[in-house]
Amino acid sequence: MAALILDGKALAKTTEEELSARVAKLKEKTGKTPILATILVGDDPASATYVKMKGNACARVGMESIRVVLPKNTTTEELLNKIQELNDNRDVHGILLQHPVPRHIDERAAFEAIDARKDVDGVTCLGFGRMAMGEPAYGCATPAGIMRLLKAYNIPLAGKHAVVVGRSAILGKPMAMMLLNADCTVTICHSKTQNLPEFVKQADILVGAVGKPEFIKKEWIKQGAVVVDAGYHPGGVGDIEKGLDDVASAYTPVPGGVGPMTINTLIYQSVESGEKYLG
Ligand code: NAP
Repeated sequence: MAALILDGKALAKTTEEELSARVAKLKEKTGKTPILATILVGDDPASATYVKMKGNACARVGMESIRVVLPKNTTTEELLNKIQELNDNRDVHGILLQHPVPRHIDERAAFEAIDARKDVDGVTCLGFGRMAMGEPAYGCATPAGIMRLLKAYNIPLAGKHAVVVGRSAILGKPMAMMLLNADCTVTICHSKTQNLPEFVKQADILVGAVGKPEFIKKEWIKQGAVVVDAGYHPGGVGDIEKGLDDVASAYTPVPGGVGPMTINTLIYQSVESGEKYLG
C-alpha cells in the first residue's frame, strides 16, 4: 500500500481559513485583531526570510504584526529592554524572537525575558516546564506543529515506540515530552548515542531533528514506521534520506511537511493569545 503523505502545507492552508474566521469574529466584537511582534537581530538572510514569512502568514489570516529589526551589534541588555517594552505593550499578544541571535547575545536570557503569556513560540523554560507537566502552555512551535499534523491524520500514538533523533531545546526535547504526554514510549538519541541505526530500527514513530542533510538512512527504518522529518536543507532535502514510499506507512515530505506547520502553529497560538487578551 502506498505511504500516506502527511501534508503540512495543506493542513496549514485549511487551518488558515479557520483562523481567518476567528480573527474576523474578534475584530467584529472588539475592533482589534491579535498582534504578533517579531524581533530580528542582525542581518542573517535566512532569518530575515523566516521573519518575513511569519509576517506574511499573519497578514493572510487578517492579523497585524509589528516588525522589530535590531542591528547585529545590539547588546543583550538592549534586546532585553526591547522585549520588556513589548511585554508592557497591551496591544501586543505574542512575541517571536527569531533564532539564532548573534553569538555575543545571551539567547537564553532573551527567551526568558518574554512574558510567558505572550510566549506564542513556546521558547521559555516556564512554557517548557508547564507543557512537560501537562499544564496549559503554548508548545514550542515546531514540535507542537508536528503533534498537530499527527493528530490531523489520526496517527495512533498511545503505546507506540517513538524515537526522536536530536535533543535541542527548541525541537528534540519538547518533541520527546509531547510524545511522552501522548502516551508513546520515547527514546531520545543525540550525538553521543552509540549504534544509532539500532535505535532507529525500533521506531514506530521516527522524528529526525539532527540538522544534517539525509543523515538518517532509509535502510535503518522499520517497515511501516511513521516518519517525521524536521530538517530542511538547501536543495529541498531533510535530515532523513528520501525515497520512503516503500518503507514508511506515513511520512512528512520535504518541503511541505513540518516547515509550514511551524509557522502555522505560531500563528495559531498568536490567535489563541489574542482571543485570551481581547475576547
Ligand atoms: P540543533 O540545535 O543543531 O540540534 C541538533 C541535534 O542533533 C542535537 O541534539 C545533536 O546532538 C543531534 N545530533 C547531531 N549529530 C548527531 C549524530 N551524529 N547522531 C545523533 N544525533 C546527532 O538543531 P535543531 O535546531 O534542533 O534543528 C534540527 C533540524 O530541524 C535542522 O535540520 C533544522 O533546520 C530543522 N528545523 C526545522 C524547523 C522548521 O520549521 N521546519 C524549525 C527548527 C529546526 P547533541 O545535543 O549531542 O549535540
